[in-house]
Amino acid sequence: MTYVVTDACIKCKYMDCVEVCPVDCFYEGENMLVINPSECIDCGVCEPECPAEAILPDTESGLEQWLELNTKYSAEWPNITTSREPPKDADDFKGVENKFEEYFSPEPGDGD
Ligand code: SF4
Ligand code: SF4
Repeated sequence: MTYVVTDACIKCKYMDCVEVCPVDCFYEGENMLVINPSECIDCGVCEPECPAEAILPDTESGLEQWLELNTKYSAEWPNITTSREPPKDADDFKGVENKFEEYFSPEPGDGD
């Protein structure tokens, strides 16, 4: 198994998760992060750190889309291990529905 980042992260990107990951397996897109499933050691410490509740174990049902997205983009986006300021409007997007359809960006973020 692995943990995956879902669309709840899009445009929130609080980055609390990257500070706690013992194996530095978060990767940064323009407006969300993903986890590299083959590097994640399933420790679970990142899950409760996410204010947007965007991180879930892939043992939960219905997460195939996010597992695929995490796998694809963790191979393309830069690694991120230290948090930066979240977007100024992050709280406005917390809990908003359909963020993938409306706001997902395939562009890479800055990384470390
Ligand atoms: S803490 Fe949650 S919202 Fe913030 S970057 Fe990590 S997964 Fe995204
Ligand atoms: S479960 Fe552990 S290893 Fe996997 S992404 Fe979260 S903190 Fe990193």
